[in-house]
Amino acid sequence: MRALRLPAWKTEPELVEVDQPTPGPGQVVVRIGAAGACHSDLHLMHDFEAGGLPWNPPFTLGHENAGWVHRLGAGVTGLEVGQPVAVYGPWGCGRCARCRVGVDNYCENPAAAPVPGGGGGLGLDGGMAEYELVPDARHVLPLPDGLDPVDAAPLTDAGLTPYHAIRRSWPKLPPGSTAVVIGVGGLGHVGVQILKATTAARVVAVDTREEALRLAEECGADLTMRSAEGTAEEIRRVTGGRGADVVLDFVGADATLRLGVAAARTVGDLTIVGLGGGSLSVGFFSVPYEVSIQTTYWGSRPELLEVLDLGARGLVRPKTTTFGLDEAMRAYRMMQDGSLEGRAVIVP
Ligand code: NAD
Ligand code: ZN
Repeated sequence: MRALRLPAWKTEPELVEVDQPTPGPGQVVVRIGAAGACHSDLHLMHDFEAGGLPWNPPFTLGHENAGWVHRLGAGVTGLEVGQPVAVYGPWGCGRCARCRVGVDNYCENPAAAPVPGGGGGLGLDGGMAEYELVPDARHVLPLPDGLDPVDAAPLTDAGLTPYHAIRRSWPKLPPGSTAVVIGVGGLGHVGVQILKATTAARVVAVDTREEALRLAEECGADLTMRSAEGTAEEIRRVTGGRGADVVLDFVGADATLRLGVAAARTVGDLTIVGLGGGSLSVGFFSVPYEVSIQTTYWGSRPELLEVLDLGARGLVRPKTTTFGLDEAMRAYRMMQDGSLEGRAVIVP
């Protein structure tokens, strides 16, 4: 079968011929219907080197996958060949306290996981191929009616990651509150939709690109702002001087982190999702009182069920552009040069 593999750090992925995987006991092979292209893959191609992550290339890219059950390993029950499914991406040890409640994204025994702190497309072979081997059937979730693999695949990361970040901030998003989304790309545009579907907050979207702000409006943003010097003051102005209750930074660069702090309301949340490499200095007088600042990584399996439900009911619907496997690099280049809208999805 064909697979888009990252051969080494700081190289371009290659489309190569590899063997079709065979499921061992408890495992499932999924025929890929769609694999989302994430900006994290660009970070993998350009920003990491040996020692930067607990695993190394070569592996097949694609950590945002959906398709149909193709083969079941011995002992797998509750799934049928041909059934449409989504793949929960972070693969933990399955036995620690976190994995037992479906929070594999924060597995506390990574040495016993299939790969420490990763999953398919992140250290192990992922879904940018015709088939993906999922090492534990519990990561294979049947799709609810009304959701096909192209819509479902982005929900497993571009949906799940913002959902997890927003869900933990729900108590700070009552009517009258303001949420700011910085970076309206693959994750951010779904984040705007999730905020609108699950909270009564006013949503302000910020991006450097005009097309991204138009997409934010389509997704229901109440206000959009071009990222610039005065953006934090503008956010304070439209919130009566108070600032934003919740800021979600899908970029994570120095400039956006500074913007997030400058725009945050006292007792607010600033959540860093983007791997933009920026950092913040936090001191008593340099951030508003009681602002909570956190990073966040992906989401839990129960949360993915909730996101798939939002998707099936049409409350959240990623804006997708599809590409063949042989066009995947074109999709990544478009993501890099800012000409992509929403999420690129590879359909092998
Ligand atoms: P993307 O390329 O689709 O979107 C990024 C958006 O940010 C684009 O619209 C871009 O115009 C905008 N942007 C860039 N610089 C900006 C700035 N200075 N101000 C405002 N907007 C700016 O990327 P994506 O796939 O949505 O991923 C976003 C980030 O989240 C990446 O760093 C990715 O690696 C990371 N990520 C993190 C997790 C996690 O679990 N924490 C999961 C997936 C992705
Ligand atoms: Zn991702």
